[in-house]
Amino acid sequence: MGEIRIKPSIFFKKTFACPICQNKFREFRIKKSRQRVIRVDTDFATHCDGPNPIHYAVSVCPVCGYSFTKNFTSPSSETVRHLKSVLLPAEKDFSAERTHELAVYSFQRAIICSFINQEKEVIKGGLFLQLAWTHRFAGEEDDEKINLGNALYYYTEAFETDRNLTHQLPQMMYLIGELHMRLDNDREAIRWFGQLISNYKDQSPQYAKMARERWQEIRGIAMNSK
Ligand SMILES: [Zn+2]
Repeated sequence: MGEIRIKPSIFFKKTFACPICQNKFREFRIKKSRQRVIRVDTDFATHCDGPNPIHYAVSVCPVCGYSFTKNFTSPSSETVRHLKSVLLPAEKDFSAERTHELAVYSFQRAIICSFINQEKEVIKGGLFLQLAWTHRFAGEEDDEKINLGNALYYYTEAFETDRNLTHQLPQMMYLIGELHMRLDNDREAIRWFGQLISNYKDQSPQYAKMARERWQEIRGIAMNSK
């Protein structure tokens, strides 16, 4: 019974408005004061003791099924019409505490909606990366790698085509290098880390330092395996 008493104090109910069907709905979110970070991985995945806030990144409208994050752009009236004709309501309940499976499902739905809504590549990359982390937290390595690969693809697209990312470029270069490293493309990882270090060592010393550490780690692994 103790657990039942503790849980309500970890969560609070937040109200969302669906941009497709205008329905207002409430979902659990984790209180900042109750989030317990254990460690942060080199690709920024944040491990928590207890429920992970990432499981609650996606809002799922219980009426029409539209699934979105706070980073989504508001859909045009044409997209709203299109979404209404293809969306199916989720048969599952996303409003309360979410299991790992529900969290995975919420990201899969948000990814589909991000494509229909023509979100930017950086948004798609972020969804795939968060889905990869969700699999990592559950020890599902194969699914993690598939989604790291998808995240890498969309971040690279964003880097090459999105002219509005100026301020985020050092972080994005670091992440692209990092994802290559995690997918065992050491040569590409070194190339991205190297570019980041030479182009941004004064402008963005924090990411340049992180890139240098990762670069040294790759060299260390290569030395040890000889
Ligand atoms: Zn809706």
